Order: sequence, then structure tokens, then C-alpha cells
Amino acid sequence: MAAAADEKINIALYWGAGCGGCDVAVLDIDAAILDLAAIANVTLWPIGFDTKYEDIEKMPDKSITISFYNGAIRNEENEHIARLLRQKSQVLISFGSCACFGGTPGLGNVTNKKEIMETVYLNLPSNDNPDGVIPSPKIKVPEGELELPDIYDDVLTLDDVVDVDLFMPGCPPTVELISLALEAVTKHVKEGAPLPPKGAVIASDKTLCDECPREIVEKGRNIEKIYQPYEIMPELDKCLIDQGIICMGPATRAGCGAMCPNANMPCRGCMGPTKAVMDQGGSMLSALASIFNITDKESQMSDEEIENLLDQVKDPLGTFYAFTLPKSLLRRTFKEKKG
Ligand code: SF4
Ligand code: SF4
Ligand code: SF4
Repeated sequence: MAAAADEKINIALYWGAGCGGCDVAVLDIDAAILDLAAIANVTLWPIGFDTKYEDIEKMPDKSITISFYNGAIRNEENEHIARLLRQKSQVLISFGSCACFGGTPGLGNVTNKKEIMETVYLNLPSNDNPDGVIPSPKIKVPEGELELPDIYDDVLTLDDVVDVDLFMPGCPPTVELISLALEAVTKHVKEGAPLPPKGAVIASDKTLCDECPREIVEKGRNIEKIYQPYEIMPELDKCLIDQGIICMGPATRAGCGAMCPNANMPCRGCMGPTKAVMDQGGSMLSALASIFNITDKESQMSDEEIENLLDQVKDPLGTFYAFTLPKSLLRRTFKEKKG
């Protein structure tokens, strides 16, 4: 429903387990932020000002029109605010790849809290921690007892914890996608225009290869060696996979304008899987298998040759699941093993 002309809506932005880049991306919209300020009171934005969580807790339920949650759920505080914003918001947007799929913090799901704490606080050569202190949720100091949010064994996505209305992937989401979302919010507030349907992903439904200008070899693809991006200087107009560099384009949602291939770097997959796919890494492996196993008989590779080629990928998990491990099928396998 449209707000009265002089009535501002409430919006909230929160930073969970992430790098802060998503918050900076909001500032990247430049003057458009003034349009937002014209229609909205920002009730929570920890990077911007010091709102107390108690103030949000006192607000009536659904009194925040839209909340943007970036970052994954890594600790008790992240989960508390996710639940709080769900309760207080009409629309909750999962903003950025960490919130949508776990993002790079999600790679922590190959291990657990104990191993992470020991590595970071006890085993790094740069540590100066002679007493071997590891942070704990409760700690005594001369002034009394301090409480810290406990971290979890597993990184969770926002929709693992609460119901999410809209998803905006990207690491961080591009200015174009953020502007699209803000335009939709503004029209919703001023004119009562409907927002995208629940569960919609604010990005393209195509794959990155569809928006990449590089030329793909249609027949007789012949990849003999896998290269790391730093090992060769790829040609600018030819598909990177055809030059032996693993590019996640075939398994990645479009919407960024093929930013990395345009900078002569392979896509790492930050927009997450396409609509049709559940497991981005699995989808990429099957795309590669079908590329290697081309129908042109002369250059068709044997299973062993394909295996040898894939063995050259130095960091398979970091290559195929850099942004989506917590949402992948593998994550469940890991959890079962741990359990
Ligand atoms: S999605 Fe990327 S930019 Fe956003 S918080 Fe996560 S790591 Fe940072
Ligand atoms: S695989 Fe990468 S370089 Fe090749 S067309 Fe797709 S996005 Fe472009
Ligand atoms: S090219 Fe890939 S990694 Fe780069 S911004 Fe686009 S989706 Fe993200």
C-alpha cells in the first residue's frame, strides 16, 4: 500500500557474518541514496550509526517496511538480529552472496568452531598469545563478566534461519541491481506498486555465459591443461575455459555484466547458481564434463583423461564452491560426517 505523501517508511540494514562490502555497495549508489533518504527513515544501520537493539525490539511488529540483511549467520547475535528483523519487517531481503548462500565465510563449513578457534588464536605464526587464551562467550574482567555472542559450528544462510521475501545475490550486489531494488521499493511506497513476488531473485535468470562477450568454441573444444589465472595471459576475446582457465560462467547466474571475464579474469561464481540448479559446484562439474566430452569424435576425451584434467584443479572446493558451500549438497554430507 502507498504511504501518505509526507509519511516516511522505516528501513533497516544489518551486517551479519561478512566483510562489510555489501554496506559499502549501498553507499556506491551515490546520489540515489538521497532518493532513499527522501522516503525512508533508516532505523538500523550499524555501520552508519549507533542504534541500540533494544530500540528495535520496542518497535511494533511489521513497523519496518523493508530490511536488507547482508552477511551469513555465524553467531548468536547474527541469528538474534535475523529473527528480530523478520518480526519487525514487512519485507526481508537477503542481500549479497553471504546472506543468500553463505558466501566466502561459508567455506568455514569444511571444519568446525573448535578447529577455527585453535588455528586463529593458538597456531598462527603471527600470534602473540603466551597464555593460549581463546575467546569464550563469558569472560571475567576486573569490571565484571562480559558476554560475547557464541559462534556456531556451521555457517548458515539467512533463509536457513528465517523466512525470506527477496534475494539479491552478488559479492557485493552491483549498483545496477541495488538501484533496481530501490526503484521497486520507491514505487511500492509512493504508488503502491507491487514488489517482486515472494522468493524472487533480483537478478537475471540467464547464465553468466549468456551475457559474456567472449567467443565460445562451438565444436572441437580441446582443453589439454588447466591453468591458474596467473600462469598465462589469456586472449581477450576467447572463452576462458577454452584457454584452460576454470571460469564458473556456465553454472553462475547472470546479472553482474560479466564483470570478471571483462577484466580478463575468470568468474568465481559470486552470483550463485542459476534458477534451474541447486548445487552450483555440481552444475559446474557437469558443465565441464560435457565440454570435455564433446561429440566431435576426434577430440572426445576418455573418462581417465577428464579425470586427469580435473585433477589439475588445485583447490576444487574453493574453485567450485567459493560462495555456495552452505547451500550445496556437499554441506549436508559434511554435516552428516561430523554428526
Ligand atoms: S557478499 Fe561479498 S561483499 Fe557482501 S558481505 Fe559477503 S563477502 Fe562482503
Ligand atoms: S565460461 Fe566464462 S569466459 Fe567462457 S563464455 Fe562463460 S563467462 Fe565467458
Ligand atoms: S563475473 Fe562471476 S565472480 Fe565476477 S562479479 Fe560476476 S558473478 Fe561475480
